[in-house]
Amino acid sequence: MTSQVDFRVARERFQRYAQEANQQDAATLFAQTRTERDEMPEEFPKRRSDRIAMAIPVRVSGTDHDGVNFDVDARTVTLSRNGATLIVKQHLKPDQEVKVRFPRRAKEAMFRVVGRIGGESEGYVYGVAQLDAAVDLWGIGFPPMADSKRVVGRLVMACSECNRQEVVYLNELEIQVFQANQSLSRPCGACAKSTLWKNAASDSSSQKPTAAAAGDDSSSMPQPSTVGRRRNTRVNAKLMACIRQPGFADEVVMTENVSRGGLCFKSSKAYLSGSPIEVSVPYSSAGANIFVPARVAHVFEKAGDKIYRIGVAYIKPEEALRHS
Ligand SMILES: [Zn+2]
Repeated sequence: MTSQVDFRVARERFQRYAQEANQQDAATLFAQTRTERDEMPEEFPKRRSDRIAMAIPVRVSGTDHDGVNFDVDARTVTLSRNGATLIVKQHLKPDQEVKVRFPRRAKEAMFRVVGRIGGESEGYVYGVAQLDAAVDLWGIGFPPMADSKRVVGRLVMACSECNRQEVVYLNELEIQVFQANQSLSRPCGACAKSTLWKNAASDSSSQKPTAAAAGDDSSSMPQPSTVGRRRNTRVNAKLMACIRQPGFADEVVMTENVSRGGLCFKSSKAYLSGSPIEVSVPYSSAGANIFVPARVAHVFEKAGDKIYRIGVAYIKPEEALRHS
């Protein structure tokens, strides 16, 4: 459906961003540009953190083009350290300033409307950039993007004692501990000690404890099946992952293995080799999930089974440039 012109515009924009901004951000932007081509905002805020798919109920207030004040319910679709995408019924103009209030934390911050990304039955989807970076509106700690290069899994976790939320990057060992316990013991800056961390729930107001975890008893820690010094060591881990592809419903799958370079899963769906996708691993249907750009690298069909084994490679910045 994408016309050649749309695609060229998207590609040029992508290449410009790749030069200006963090390259991984550009790859994400490119994937987003191809997915959501309803109305292209003129610019996107530079992303300096991962993008979390997380539904948080908020209030958005401001003044419309007739000078009438509005104060309406909205919710986040994605959020990052310095921006968000919001679903809101109110029409917003590019460059307009709005106040976003997060009632559960009793916090608010001013945002600039970057542009409309699309529409859903619930309302319009807008990209917004936070104006006052000093306000910690979401209450989520974001590690520097540079830390994300050497990870096999990304998720949002919450401290079980103080409820602080952080984007957490898991290495080969940590992802196996998480697989076994659905929790991790890690230091909490707020509690100033090591505490038990679990998947953060998507709607922070209805956070429910998950089934009792095995606890942080380190004797329950599994022996890593494959941990080495080699780059892209594959860990045989069965983890929920979500595959997002433009024009298709999300597919939740179980991984066969994960590595820093990608992952492998089985599906009855015949993915096309080379297709751009976005992947979240580990994925939680009730949780806050982090999607990163990737592509389908290999598709193997087991003879006559109609079950495919799909290999996925995360898109490296230099690769994204070469293939665009
Ligand atoms: Zn804590």
